[in-house]
Amino acid sequence: MTVQAQYRSSNILSRTVVLSGKYTITVETSFSASHILPDCPPCDRLHGHTWKVKASWSYTRLDDKGMGDNFANLKALLNAEIRSRFDHTHLNEAAPFDALRPTAENLVREFFLILKKGSAAVSSGKLERVEVWEGPESFVSYEE
Ligand SMILES: [Zn+2]
Repeated sequence: MTVQAQYRSSNILSRTVVLSGKYTITVETSFSASHILPDCPPCDRLHGHTWKVKASWSYTRLDDKGMGDNFANLKALLNAEIRSRFDHTHLNEAAPFDALRPTAENLVREFFLILKKGSAAVSSGKLERVEVWEGPESFVSYEE
């Protein structure tokens, strides 16, 4: 019996676990983009950030594999919906920020809405929180 088959037959991995608490899974990505925030010196000058985005989903049940979700699925969602869409863009010209000031606050709320919509198809968890880090010491979070 292979190690994989041995573990596959184990009750430890095949039992559905019902929890009294909850798990939170967080994945992150980053992208580089510029923006301008008129009337907000010094941010009224063209500049860029390597934005870090963290998204967290909660789970009150584990699946038959003993997981809330596969990290890879959530990371793929984050990369497809956020990184691929906004990396190396000028945010003031990238929808929806062409019509909405690209502040960290607006970014985090829009990213939450984008991920909430996208995660319904790939995740059994509840999107709880998104963080947008403008630099290593500053971030904004959004929750519903
Ligand atoms: Zn900035």
